[in-house]
Amino acid sequence: MKVTEKAQQALDGILSAFESGQVPEAIAHTVIPMYDAPCNRWSLNNRILTFLSGTTDARGIDQWRQIGRWPKKGSKALYILVPMIYTKRDDERGIDENALIGFRACPVFRLEDTDGKPLDRPQVEPPEPPPLLDIALAWGLSVRYLPCIGNAYGFYCAGRQEIGLCPHDEAVFFHELAHAAHDRVNGGLSQVQKWKKEVVAELTAATLMHLFGRRPNDGGAYRYIRHYAAQDGKDPHRACLAVIADVSRCLDLILKAKQTPVIEAIAAD
Ligand SMILES: [Zn+2]
Repeated sequence: MKVTEKAQQALDGILSAFESGQVPEAIAHTVIPMYDAPCNRWSLNNRILTFLSGTTDARGIDQWRQIGRWPKKGSKALYILVPMIYTKRDDERGIDENALIGFRACPVFRLEDTDGKPLDRPQVEPPEPPPLLDIALAWGLSVRYLPCIGNAYGFYCAGRQEIGLCPHDEAVFFHELAHAAHDRVNGGLSQVQKWKKEVVAELTAATLMHLFGRRPNDGGAYRYIRHYAAQDGKDPHRACLAVIADVSRCLDLILKAKQTPVIEAIAAD
């Protein structure tokens, strides 16, 4: 039996379980806890700026010096916006009043651009790498584990070709890998509707979980698909059928890559 036939069987099994309503309870993911860093107390805008620059920790020169680190020669700062507060005494009412008079740009450096004493950080990598990690690496993706950002468990960033993962669960890695596969088979995802991208990724991930004998048919996948299908006024089963061709193409790409020793091929280049 070819891998793709096996994948098709797994996909059919998941779809009929969805249809028959035999869906178990969702399993909660355990996320990597947020560690203590000044940027985790910044405003949401500044945290997003930091995150978009590809780091989970950025600090000013003095803040780095205090913990025995300093920016590497030639590294560029990124700028966060710090509110400028003016305190004015109101003599009549006998109180001090704070007024926001503007923002100033404050240079900070990414952890990756600093040297010095190692940071005291909890181990965030899983004890075992997830299956199919080699595929992601062969596609030129960087995969990193990091504390939770907002309410997302992970992300696939096409621009930076990066996968970020908050829990260690393989289902989350498979979901983001599926987005990367969809990007490749579709020649970009910018024109694809959000509900469709999410249903493709989650159904592909559920099928991979099934194929790898991991927690098959998790109720979380069903609920996730139902949520996004509703955005297009579809019931979950119809939404799955609408994207099944894309899911098959994603599975083909991932599993075909698995059959060839991609990493060795690259290393031999
Ligand atoms: Zn997604």
